[in-house]
Amino acid sequence: MIHYDIRTLPDYIFPGYRWHFAEKDFHPDFLAEAETFFALSNGYMGIRGSFEEGYPVHLSSTVINGFYESWDIVYGETAFGFAKTGQTIVNVTDAKIIRLFVDDEPFTAATSRMVEFERALDFRRGTLDRHVVWETPSGKRVVIDSRRLVSLEHRHLAAISYQVTIENADAPVVISSEMRYEEKQIDTGGDQRLGHGPRGRVLHPRTNRASERRILLGHATERSDMRLACGVDHVFATECNHRVDVSHDEDHGKAVFTVDARAGEPIGLVKYITYHSSRSRPVEDLCDRAERTLDRAIRNGLDDLVESQRQRVADFWSRADVVLSAKPAAVGRSRPEPEDVQQALRFNLFHVLQATARVEGAGVPAKGLTGIGYEGHYFWDTEIYLIPFLVFTHPRVARNLLKFRFGMLDKARQRARELSQRGALFAWRTINGEEASAYYAAGTAQYHINADIAFALLRYVNATGDEDFLFEEGAEVLVETARLWRDLGFFSAERDGRFVIAGVTGPDEYNTVVNNNLFTNLMARVNLRFAAYAMRRMVEERPGLYRKLVDRTGFEPSEIDDWAEAADMMLVPTDEKTGIPLQDDEFLEKKPWDFEGTPEENYPLLLHYHPLVIYRHQVIKQADVVLALFLLGDQFTLEEKKRTFDFYDPLTTGDSSLSACIQSIVASEVGYSDKAVEYARYALLMDLADLGKNVKDGLHMASMGGTWMVTVFGFAGFRDHRGRFSFQPRPTEGLQRMAFPLTIRGQILDVEITRDTASYALREGEGLTIWHEDEEISLLPGAPVSKPIKSGPQASPVPGRAVRKRKKG
Ligand code: BGC
Repeated sequence: MIHYDIRTLPDYIFPGYRWHFAEKDFHPDFLAEAETFFALSNGYMGIRGSFEEGYPVHLSSTVINGFYESWDIVYGETAFGFAKTGQTIVNVTDAKIIRLFVDDEPFTAATSRMVEFERALDFRRGTLDRHVVWETPSGKRVVIDSRRLVSLEHRHLAAISYQVTIENADAPVVISSEMRYEEKQIDTGGDQRLGHGPRGRVLHPRTNRASERRILLGHATERSDMRLACGVDHVFATECNHRVDVSHDEDHGKAVFTVDARAGEPIGLVKYITYHSSRSRPVEDLCDRAERTLDRAIRNGLDDLVESQRQRVADFWSRADVVLSAKPAAVGRSRPEPEDVQQALRFNLFHVLQATARVEGAGVPAKGLTGIGYEGHYFWDTEIYLIPFLVFTHPRVARNLLKFRFGMLDKARQRARELSQRGALFAWRTINGEEASAYYAAGTAQYHINADIAFALLRYVNATGDEDFLFEEGAEVLVETARLWRDLGFFSAERDGRFVIAGVTGPDEYNTVVNNNLFTNLMARVNLRFAAYAMRRMVEERPGLYRKLVDRTGFEPSEIDDWAEAADMMLVPTDEKTGIPLQDDEFLEKKPWDFEGTPEENYPLLLHYHPLVIYRHQVIKQADVVLALFLLGDQFTLEEKKRTFDFYDPLTTGDSSLSACIQSIVASEVGYSDKAVEYARYALLMDLADLGKNVKDGLHMASMGGTWMVTVFGFAGFRDHRGRFSFQPRPTEGLQRMAFPLTIRGQILDVEITRDTASYALREGEGLTIWHEDEEISLLPGAPVSKPIKSGPQASPVPGRAVRKRKKG
């Protein structure tokens, strides 16, 4: 069994609620983590959950998705084709600061006596609410209620309402609402996952203006030449005497409200915040846009904004909520309780909503917009871990993300040329489409990103039936990615004429630059076949589009057979003795890793061992073959899956947060429900229990999307192979009921699974064919269908072997 504290957060501080995540008591030990948990975002802008008062703080960051600065990557020793330019998301003007002084004493959570404190992320309202009662040194009771939101409806708008009432006395009160740009240097503490970043000042002042209670600051980056306007405006309401002073310079702005507060008389400030960014428009234009956003916000008022937020979030849940009822006994320990499980799942999905809702023209950074870990870069995380959720709940968002990725095609073509290849090679990590990975072995060498993109498109097209998107936008990417594979591999005489792909890294970053990584080969095969299929149909069915595509790509019809041949001849590395699929050609030739002798504190291994030490061992960072068992599950028998899982699972450290969810899904499928639950809990609590010990740097968005996959693909056994939508529910000991909707082909299907029955009902739509345990069901509106579940829970036959044993250090 994995040994970990499943819930390290004390429940008297962070109790389990089904619809919100609350901190009951301020605890400085969890300051950095709480800033991440309470981060708000809409996919365009992200504001960490640090206090309005600016202190105490771990990192008060506000970021705009895709707004980055570039810098020269400096190598001690370089080589041809290494990535040259780093890209790092910029910590922009901080506009959320509101300082409070009573009797000239500042309020801060660190130093003030708080007789009441609670803050909560409300999953139904989409707001971050805080309630504080502060007892000042002179005995005044100051009630402070604040609400913060980043609008899902208005992409460029955020707002904070800050209400102060002194209950028992009159006193001078000052509320200073501020904005400032500050140069920040991040101390990475040697953790390479934090990245490097540009040095020195990043944003340079370009313009600024103020009128009445409104202030606008315009900045730009130097090298990437990105421009930004940040604006704030205020609505202030109180019966008490007051005055306001507004001032600003290039990097700062302040609206100071000085009030003669009377006992019991509320003082209310609403601060509207807007960001507009662009690569091409002058900063002055962006300031004009910011003014228009603020005008509208003030005209419509806070109630309107709060209500539109509530509606947006309600709409999200109506398409995406997964309701779980579990018995406490299911989890065997005092925590997590069933409420915790539901809370954790909703917490994860809520953050996926925040990371993706209004992305539009950008990707999803590995940490969403909740922290600066991984420098705001986009990885395959989006296509393999988030798009499945989006395809089946919010297909329009999935489409936007794919479209954005396709927009990087020219950069990908260029990168393929740099690597002496035909076609296109998408960057492993990037913001602007250029490769930003300075460590090619675990970066550029992950050619599988090409196939991951094709796979996500396939899934999207199957689930939605949106063939226009396939032919109008996707086909060109399929052509270029297929060309890359065909050119990268070759038919090897040494391997009986099989098509082999050498010198690549699969998902597992602990075995790099290998020959015939199974995952890569199988995914490349899908990519090649999908490209061939799309082009065959396009010639026939979309001649106009086809001609344009030929103009753009020089596509030759003979390429179709060429791709198909490479796919048919693709080498699938297999151990002859055992029949187990091999992670790569040499995997078995490596030395077994000494798991027994590895103390717990040496995980993740990447922070404690030189890469060469790791690379020469049979040790795996994250699901690789096991991921193929899931994604390409129709290419393996159940028996093969079981044997393969039994072999690889004990070698998998789970040092990447992308692993546990996949291990859980495959464990479910092969019938190891105890392991499935164990890994599911691990994935579910990855962030809330800070299992990776780096939640301070941001949330693990892939794992968050992965928890949805754990429930839907894992416990409900949903599969979409080849556009056939099937369920093979796998109840566990503790799961009593599970209910969720899926959007399939424009229809909404409601699924409910209990311990012995699965029910399917069409909430919206004309009719849908699904499969339950291999029985075909034609669902019609108003006619739900219930079916018994045949398979019951099973335990894994070899406890302690199917899950790697970690020794407590
Ligand atoms: C994982 C990658 C992942 C990246 C960003 C790494 O630790 O190994 O698979 O894409 O994190 O989440």
